[in-house]
Amino acid sequence: MNRVAVIGGGWAGLAAAVVLAESGTRVQVFEAARQLGGRARRVEVEGRALDNGQHILVGAYRDTLRLMRRVGVDVDRAMLRLPLELRLAGGFRMRAPRWPAPLHLAGALAGARGLAFGEKWAALRFMRSLRRSGYRLAADVAVADLLARHRQPEAVRARLWEPLCVAALNTPSRAASAQVFANVLRDTFEGDRSASDLLLPRADLGALFPDAAAAFIRERAGVVALGEPVRTIARAGDGFWTVENAGQFDAVIVACAPQHAAALVGNLEPLAPLAAQLSALRFEPIYTCYLQYPESVTLPFPMIGFESGAVHWAFDRGALSGHSGLVAAVTSASGPHEDAGHAAFTRLVHDALRTVVPDLPSPRWARVIAERRATFACTPGLHRPANETAVSGLLLAGDYTASDYPGTLESAVRSGIRAAALAADVELTPA
Ligand SMILES: Cc1cc2nc3c(=O)[nH]c(=O)nc-3n(C[C@H](O)[C@H](O)[C@H](O)COP(=O)(O)OP(=O)(O)OC[C@H]3O[C@@H](n4cnc5c(N)ncnc54)[C@H](O)[C@@H]3O)c2cc1C
Repeated sequence: MNRVAVIGGGWAGLAAAVVLAESGTRVQVFEAARQLGGRARRVEVEGRALDNGQHILVGAYRDTLRLMRRVGVDVDRAMLRLPLELRLAGGFRMRAPRWPAPLHLAGALAGARGLAFGEKWAALRFMRSLRRSGYRLAADVAVADLLARHRQPEAVRARLWEPLCVAALNTPSRAASAQVFANVLRDTFEGDRSASDLLLPRADLGALFPDAAAAFIRERAGVVALGEPVRTIARAGDGFWTVENAGQFDAVIVACAPQHAAALVGNLEPLAPLAAQLSALRFEPIYTCYLQYPESVTLPFPMIGFESGAVHWAFDRGALSGHSGLVAAVTSASGPHEDAGHAAFTRLVHDALRTVVPDLPSPRWARVIAERRATFACTPGLHRPANETAVSGLLLAGDYTASDYPGTLESAVRSGIRAAALAADVELTPA
């Protein structure tokens, strides 16, 4: 029977380990931290169970949802499913009617509040043009350039495309890959209408997948070891791999973030170019500011956007997870907020919230969690490494590996499934 080591217990590593364990492969997960989940994990802050950052999923996350169900997560209880609806503080509002895709998007745009007729028409023209091209660009460019080429009016950029681009790619439109943005639009708005549903976690990120994944792996004789940083991996002469003192493995899946993966594969001489490629990736931050208000405070909608300024989206954690009065405000990608300091950033968030909640009292408690390397910068023409490496039996998994998607849970999970297939010739069995 094959033995496979998985280094990293984020969503990519756990996805790989679940698929391997289900197929009967003996799998051992090594996680450096004391808890699973990596960049999508539960954190304990002054006695409060929070997440390292507010996450949002969409119905198009096919493999993530499949794998969550596979390990026993009740997806319908764990997340609030909202048919596509975007609301911004300034009055912009777009809601998809219950029509088949992609007509539902056309209906949402046609009925949007906060855009003039000509602006809606321009947005529809842009989507129609992307559809006609099969969502393939002749050459990748920045999203801002693509929008300029399609003469998207300022209001449409600011209220629709820019918020969607930054939320999905975690990269500002002037630097973001238009091809990856087109891929996201394709998967979200083509096919089934439910692909564009917003899925807002009601449970913490640990309960959303990592906890159940670890239990699933252990029930199938796999090992999930916490507080186990791997420092070296080496090839034994007989084609096996050694990982720390844990014995021999037929294959190793390196499922760490790129900067950590670079350090591990850099010791293996044929992989020096890969280590250089990994080290060359650039990152974008995500800031999440939690504010605890009196329990009576609610937002007008579970998720509200802000057109410009320091805050992008605010989530009503009371409406979502029962933490009454708790708001999570998110700012994606790099920007001036990074220089503001946490106290000043918290004030900016509070001021933004005051525009949507009349008579908002001061927060009783606040905390900023800054993830400085939240995702790789998803720039035009970026050459992302494949799951296979130049050394047989050594594979990569992670949100940054080559795929259609930006750095997201779905790209992490898909990469894990692919790496498992390459490591032990196994597949995720159909639901
Ligand atoms: C604040 C924030 C908000 C986000 N919001 C969203 C969102 O709304 N929607 C969405 O889809 N995505 C979102 N993302 C992105 C998403 O969280 C990531 O794409 C995904 O979690 C990456 O998973 P991964 O398994 O590839 O990597 P990681 O999560 O980085 O996992 C790698 C794991 O490897 C471990 N490790 C590293 N080195 C070693 C070693 N030497 N030995 C053993 N273990 C090691 C690490 O501790 C870590 O647990 C967000 C990310 C952040 C940070």
